[in-house]
Amino acid sequence: MAETHDLVLRGGRVLDPETNFDAVADVGVTGDVITGVSTTPLHGRRTLDVPGLAVAPGWIDMHSHAQTLAGHRLQALDGVTTALELEAGATPVAEAYNEATAEGRPLNFGFAASWTQARMAVIGGMPPGGGIGSTLGRIGDPRWQAPATGRALEEILALLGGELANGALGIGILMGYAPGVAHEEYAAVAGLAAAAGVPTYTHSRDLVERVPDILIDGAEELTRVAAETGAHMHYCHVNSTSTRQIDRVLGLVERVRAEGARVSTEAYPYGAGMTGIGASFLAPERLAEWGMTPASIVYTPTGERVADAARLARLRADDPGGLAIIHTLDERLPADRIFLDRALLAASTVIGSDAMPLTWTSGVPDPYAWPLPKTAVTHPRTAGTFSKVLRHYVRETGTLSLLEAVSRASTLPARVLGESVPALRRKGRVQVGCDADLVVFDPATVTDRSTYEDSTRPSAGYAHVFVAGEAVVSDGELVLSALPGRPIRR
Ligand SMILES: [Zn+2]
Repeated sequence: MAETHDLVLRGGRVLDPETNFDAVADVGVTGDVITGVSTTPLHGRRTLDVPGLAVAPGWIDMHSHAQTLAGHRLQALDGVTTALELEAGATPVAEAYNEATAEGRPLNFGFAASWTQARMAVIGGMPPGGGIGSTLGRIGDPRWQAPATGRALEEILALLGGELANGALGIGILMGYAPGVAHEEYAAVAGLAAAAGVPTYTHSRDLVERVPDILIDGAEELTRVAAETGAHMHYCHVNSTSTRQIDRVLGLVERVRAEGARVSTEAYPYGAGMTGIGASFLAPERLAEWGMTPASIVYTPTGERVADAARLARLRADDPGGLAIIHTLDERLPADRIFLDRALLAASTVIGSDAMPLTWTSGVPDPYAWPLPKTAVTHPRTAGTFSKVLRHYVRETGTLSLLEAVSRASTLPARVLGESVPALRRKGRVQVGCDADLVVFDPATVTDRSTYEDSTRPSAGYAHVFVAGEAVVSDGELVLSALPGRPIRR
């Protein structure tokens, strides 16, 4: 007798990059597992007809700072089923997992150990915890950026080692925010990751073209450490830290990869970045290194373009964690666009959104508000990254095939993490026995709708999004009550 599945997605274009499967088929789901993939009809207690729609493994975002209910909802409508905070990380990880588990999340979630928070505690003497808000609030504070003595470095490594034992998914390193830290410390942290068999996730140090007297070039540092320690070094948002130097950076990455080093890169399709306005590289006297002026910065809480150096200094002193949009490349200019395209299309690149927390420009933040009011703002990448890739790179320019885009959004991230995190070996794939984290979308219409002016407008084109077999988006609408997201630990 034929097997009966709980649910059958009937007649969609099923995409499984790992097996190169791209054909019309039925997908069966029972509980939280994919129980059938077949070009002949499957039998289900419930059937959803999805002809003309793509059925793919849900997007796995390796770079999401939007670890709140509202952040996850915006990402669910962009096709994300797993949102991981790896670059900034969260130390103590137990606190981050407990908080997300207690509140409930629509999407699967997970955290890396935070080198930055470890340093803030050991070197800066600041109380640990508090997540991304706490990290951003202190990001420009010079106390945590001071060089470490041998003893202090041992303490940092011991703290991070304990976090890995507590299930952290690797080590996040915000090197670019602490330009005075010795290269040896970075190498030691990577050595710890290599010994534990986990990846590191780096916001790289600045580049020598911009800062000629830098201790060591950021791209040289990351790739050298990958070659010397054997650690898997994940190069976060290689687009925004490389900008016009992307060819040199990718050349270094490709060279060490060819020699066997493990480096993956990550990119998001926007010309502007976002970070706390107190970041060291946004000091008025350093803007010229990036070819910027104060007017390149938009301070999110007021929406103002920063008028001058004095205003920038004032904002940095008053609200160092206040988020700001940093306009570095102009996507509308072909000469700038090409740098973004190189980052996105490199063989080593996965799509990662760098989704940001919401800033509430007035009133009391309401974590349960939906739809989001206009007073909740962020970088458009939070809501739109994955759909923008599908719109621009797949549909409008044809520079990625649909299967390649699905691979970069889901299968490749699952592979990067799957080496050390068994749970990821069952994700990023539409195969029998894998997790029923699935997106059903229309390749002809899927699109981002968020802009710098209207930053939290959700993407469109997703008919259904399933996390662990449960719909978080159904018939294009968010299911507000659905909280099937599970913690992903090592
Ligand atoms: Zn970053």
